[in-house]
Order: sequence, then C-alpha cells, then structure tokens
Amino acid sequence: MKVHLILLMLLIATEKIHSSRYRRSADPLAYKNYLTKANAILERVPLIDGHNDLPWTLRNYAKNQVGILNITDLTNVEPWASSPSSHTDVIRLRQGKVGAQFWAAYVGCTTQYKDAVTRTWEQIDVVHRLVNANPDTFEFVTSAQGIEDAFRRGKIGSLIGVEGGHSIDSSLSVLRMMYDMGVRYMTLTHACPTPWADNSQLDNAGGVPVSNGLSAFGKIVVKEMNRLGMLLDLSHISRKTMKDALETSVAPVIFSHSSAYAVCNNTRNVPDDVLRLVAQKKGVVMVNFYSDFVTCGISKATIEDVANHMDHIRNVAGSDYIGIGADYNDVSKYPDLFSLLLSRGWTENELEKVAGLNLLRVFREAEAVRNQMAANGVKPFDDWIPQTDMPAESQPCNTGDYGNKTNPIVGNAAVRIQLSSFSFITLILYYVIPWFSLSPK
Ligand SMILES: [Zn+2]
Repeated sequence: MKVHLILLMLLIATEKIHSSRYRRSADPLAYKNYLTKANAILERVPLIDGHNDLPWTLRNYAKNQVGILNITDLTNVEPWASSPSSHTDVIRLRQGKVGAQFWAAYVGCTTQYKDAVTRTWEQIDVVHRLVNANPDTFEFVTSAQGIEDAFRRGKIGSLIGVEGGHSIDSSLSVLRMMYDMGVRYMTLTHACPTPWADNSQLDNAGGVPVSNGLSAFGKIVVKEMNRLGMLLDLSHISRKTMKDALETSVAPVIFSHSSAYAVCNNTRNVPDDVLRLVAQKKGVVMVNFYSDFVTCGISKATIEDVANHMDHIRNVAGSDYIGIGADYNDVSKYPDLFSLLLSRGWTENELEKVAGLNLLRVFREAEAVRNQMAANGVKPFDDWIPQTDMPAESQPCNTGDYGNKTNPIVGNAAVRIQLSSFSFITLILYYVIPWFSLSPK
C-alpha cells in the first residue's frame, strides 16, 4: 500500500514537471525571457552560418549584376519576393543577428567536364563584388580571426565555400588558386560523383559507387586541402567518402549544411556512426533547415523540427560538435531557434558554441594544421589525376595530360631517339642544304 502511495506521489510530481514545462513554453513572459537571452548570446559571439545560396540566386535572377541590385530588402522585389529559394537580404540578416556567412560558390553538375571552372570563378567573383558593393554590411574575411574582427566592427564576415569538387576539374592547381582567391571550404562533391569522390545519392537503392569513397587521388586532394588550411566539407558525399575523408584528414572537418540521418533518413544527412567519428575528430555538423532534410519533405520544416535534429546530435555527439548551416532558409529566425533551445534546457554556454565558437575552434585547428605542415616542410602536392581515372564522358572536352611530354606515349627512349633524329633531319633540310646552295661557287 505504501509503495502504491509513493508511486502515485511520484506520478503526480512527474506530471507537474511536464505540465509546468508545457506552461513555461506556452507562457509569453517566459518566451520573452528566452528571446532576450538568445539575443544576448548572438551579441556576445558571432553566429556563423555554414551555407547560403544567395550567390546562386544572384546568378539566376540578376545575371550576377550585383552593381545595380539593392539587396537591403528583397521582400517586395520580384522574382526574389515569391521565390521559394530566396530568403536572404540585409534586413533579414541583421534581424537574424548573423555574424558571419559562408556564401556558396555553387555551379551544378551539368557543368562537370565542361565549363565548371569558369562558372565557379564567376560565382567566386560575384561574392567578392557583393561584399564590395555593400561595405557597410559585409567584410570579406579568410580566417577565424578575421571573423571575430569583422564581428567586433559590426560587419557580417563573408567567406566563400565552393560547393562541389567538380568545380576544380580534378586539378590541384585550380584548388590552390581558388584558395588564393579566398575560398575557405570545398564540399567534396555535389549531386554527382567526381572522378575521385562518391556523392550521397550513390547511397540510395541501386546506386553504384565509382571510387568506393575517395580514390587515391581523392586522398591527395584532402591532403592538399589540409596543407592549404582549406576546410573539408563532407555535406553531399557518400557515407564511405565521409569515412575515408575523416580517416585521411589531419584537420577536423565540417558538414556545412547537413542534419541527422536518424531523424530524417535522407542520404544528405549524417548517420550516427559518422556523428561519433566527427566528434572524435573534433569537427562540426552545421545543421540544415531545408524541409527535405529536416522532415524528409513530409511537412514544411519548423524550428521545432530543426531543434529535434539538434537534440539528437547533442545526444549522440555532444554540443561541442554542432553548428548552423541553414541553406536556403529565412536567416531572420535564429533568435527564435535559440530561444526554443533554451526552453529545452540547452545552456547559454552550449548555445554560444553552437552559434559560432565550435566553427571557430575547427577553423583555428585547420589553420594550425596548415602552419604545422609548413613548419614540417611539406611541399604542395603536385600530382595530376591519372587519366585512367577519368570517365569516358569527360573525353570530348578534356585534353588529358595536356602539354606533357613525359608520358608513356612520347616519353620512352625510342620516341626520344625518333624525336632527336627528326630534329637532325630538320636541321639538314632547313639550314645546312640552303647554306650550301647559297654559297658562292
Ligand atoms: Zn547543398
């Protein structure tokens, strides 16, 4: 009887906790309190968003003519206003208290083996021009310290991420030049495999791996990114490529815009075993807000749905490994998300890390790896991709080992002898014989 009474009292107590939690979240005064705290967090530390496709919409709707476009308020400017993929303008960035933004230099897979490099340069260029055209709002930055400095000056630190390995056309030279132009992360693939890395769609039923994760050349791409201090972005890649990249990279990695696979089983999301590996390597998963990846497209994603993904990643990996990478979404809602997380028991300290300190830690570590490799005398990796790795579809627009005279076709001793006899005959025909015939008799 006593036991029953104790159980009954426990039940009433638990019920009280639940209902008081419910009332607290429904209580406007409590909500206001959380919102005040959330805003204060985002004033103390920069909120760093890992992925924004504004440059792509600039291409789609304005042919990249940023000079004549006022991006202060696009809520009434068509086609921006009614576009389902445009939610960013200066007013909304400021409302959302965005401290730094990785702008995506994205071009689609249809450009692979064609003009991907040119098109990507155009997107890198448009980010530079967007920043230059709006100096009161943006500041171009290329380092963790740069993000903090811009934030202190009240500017939105602007960084570039290249979304898709096809953008470098399998060339480490292009990768290095893109780093020189300010690119600070590269997503290893987009929605297609590159000749050196498999993409996430290959994990769907019927998908056939091309490189079985990262090829040998893909691992060299990873090492060169480490040497440069460019962050590896594992969003969009296959599960095996994620594991290969985590194993190969010395620096911690990021997922610039991915959520939790256990909550929505889209292959664009991060499975639990990989979440644990990211934590082991001290990386960061920047959570995506896009409905297809948050609710698997079943309903329009709400901030509650996003918070469910964050709760899950916190349970599996820990709050030291979570960030924000909204992707296509309304950038004005971050204070609401942070209020909700406070109401769910997240601490202010955890939310400072989620907002930006986790990404800053990863960025600083990647910079430290770069510095250490330089101190160890590691030289640029100057490998060319083996032509045998290039698929047939690359052939029409690919000059192979262009200009190279040391490959087996012209590089063996027999060919060199043929070439030197050819030069000898040329010398006789063009110089020696005419000299004799012109000599005075
Ligand atoms: Zn993406």
